[in-house]
Amino acid sequence: MIPAPFAYHRAASLAEASRLLLELGEEARVLAGGQSLIPLMKLRLARPAALVDLNHIPGAAYVEKRGAELHIGAMTRHSALEDSPQAAALPILHDCAAGIADVQVRNMGTIGGSVAEADPHGDWAPVLLALNARIVTTGPEGERVVPISDFITDAFTTVLRPGELVREIRVPLQAGRSAGAYTAFKRCAPVYPTASAAVQVHMMDEDFCIEARVALGSVGLTPIVATEAAAALTGQAITPLAIERAAEAAMAAADPQPDLRGSADYKRVLVGALTRRALLAALARARGERVEMGHEYAAL
Ligand SMILES: Cc1cc2nc3c(=O)[nH]c(=O)nc-3n(C[C@H](O)[C@H](O)[C@H](O)COP(=O)(O)OP(=O)(O)OC[C@H]3O[C@@H](n4cnc5c(N)ncnc54)[C@H](O)[C@@H]3O)c2cc1C
Repeated sequence: MIPAPFAYHRAASLAEASRLLLELGEEARVLAGGQSLIPLMKLRLARPAALVDLNHIPGAAYVEKRGAELHIGAMTRHSALEDSPQAAALPILHDCAAGIADVQVRNMGTIGGSVAEADPHGDWAPVLLALNARIVTTGPEGERVVPISDFITDAFTTVLRPGELVREIRVPLQAGRSAGAYTAFKRCAPVYPTASAAVQVHMMDEDFCIEARVALGSVGLTPIVATEAAAALTGQAITPLAIERAAEAAMAAADPQPDLRGSADYKRVLVGALTRRALLAALARARGERVEMGHEYAAL
């Protein structure tokens, strides 16, 4: 199927894109990588009257270390994050980027588009939650810096106002014995996850955890910050019992719906397994070990 007719506008800057969006009104949509929007338009589930294309804006895609943060331009493609030497400082970013769909989707899809889309099954949001990332927006009223935990408010819903765009994602770089890991379970490569877990730990030494963050994807209308799972680890020696308590708390925090990917019970058990795996990988990385991590597939 081909999309319904639409007007096409090529923005030369984010300011121009914002102005165009306001002028064109509610029926206009931003086009980033097009990997969520174009399929919806082809199915005629989305019929925007106008598209404002961000793809030709100079300087909108970058991964840069600035002070104690990694700054990622909204138009940075998943594949650029997969290959970025700067992003390699946080292996959890590679865990996520390298497993999104297939090469074609990764070469076109952007992190800004993924965050703005707020798909409950998207891979980036749980990772950015575990990292305590902040979203920089730009719009008619200037810039805002919004914690990712406040940015996504519901399924496919964010705090973006009319004419406002995602400009940048800011991720704190982790100091000392800090590390994270992400894993998602998928039926096969080019589909969204059935469930996913992102874990970030800050260790005092090999055993004692100063702080942990746990976030879950695909098991609620929004990504879930599993605070009780993090509490089971924070300020604790990480024993097998603590790991088990964290996994159980993550299962309790999940709010999965049954669908073609599996029953709610199945997804809950999956969350426990994924949390354990991500946590063990994060702990090993915090000890300085090199751990390959990423998405798990039911079928290749
Ligand atoms: C076959 C297939 C499989 C996929 N599998 C996965 C997967 O496993 N995991 C996963 O996370 N994703 C998956 N995706 C989605 C992919 O990651 C998309 O790239 C992403 O969700 C949207 O990014 P985009 O740049 O393509 O955005 P677009 O499709 O261009 O835009 C998506 C929405 O966000 C808005 N938007 C885009 N950029 C901005 C911005 N800077 N500011 C404000 N609004 C903006 C658009 O107007 C639109 O409403 C898959 C896609 C396909 C086609």
